[in-house]
Amino acid sequence: LIVLENVNKWFGPLHVLNDVSLSVARGEVVVVIGPSGSGKSTLCRSINRLEPINSGTITFDGKPLPAEGKALARLRSEVGMVFQSFNLFAHKTILQNVMLGPIKVRKEKSVEVRERAMSLLDRVGIGNQAEKYPAQLSGGQQQRVAIARALAMQPKALLFDEPTSALDPEMVGEVLDVMTSLAREGMTMVVVTHEMGFARHAANRVVFMADGQLVEQAAPAEFFANPKSDRAKDFLSKIL
Ligand code: ATP
Ligand code: MG
Repeated sequence: LIVLENVNKWFGPLHVLNDVSLSVARGEVVVVIGPSGSGKSTLCRSINRLEPINSGTITFDGKPLPAEGKALARLRSEVGMVFQSFNLFAHKTILQNVMLGPIKVRKEKSVEVRERAMSLLDRVGIGNQAEKYPAQLSGGQQQRVAIARALAMQPKALLFDEPTSALDPEMVGEVLDVMTSLAREGMTMVVVTHEMGFARHAANRVVFMADGQLVEQAAPAEFFANPKSDRAKDFLSKIL
């Protein structure tokens, strides 16, 4: 579904993505790990073209990423993104936040969108908070709203960039549970996270990045038991 081939990206002199090739099959869950500054966020953002790349190719569903216009808007609705900061609209209710994209971007009828939004809020466990405002919810609840908002666009894939890093520890589990159930239901997901439990239990593949390079990738059990590169060994020795 997602194919990157020899992707390079520079920020000025900094080579942030160094010849990265990666493909993610439909229904696959890929967890991206690596030290700070290794290019994980940039990789994630390049997949829905929040960051343009300097060379190489990225295709989504067989087509090169569009650079602009309606095609780019469509890509962004097909590839949802969930960030560390939830970015909900403070002056809109939870339900309105979830309904906004389908109505504004996809011009769907509000009756249908409302029904879908409510069922998504139920699915992430906050149907009873629909009329509240973001500030009235905990961080974990807000992040679950952000996931429901991404799902409301009926995406073909979801990108998560450290979705639990800004949360108090006791709220991490409820967000990971929602992500795990999405993974089990067959959603295609690329997840940047430091939650190694999630990587072990929900990922099909772990990708390790360092200095802009995709250093190694393997099934989680294999990667954690038997990392091949020195850099991966060193990284794991610090976090596990
Ligand atoms: P972290 O774990 O800290 O989130 P990361 O692996 O996500 O790190 P990136 O955010 O992709 O790393 O950044 C990779 C490198 O690119 C870093 O050195 C960062 O400082 C640099 N960088 C990121 N965004 C920009 C930007 N907009 N302009 C210039 N440099 C940037
Ligand atoms: Mg990052």
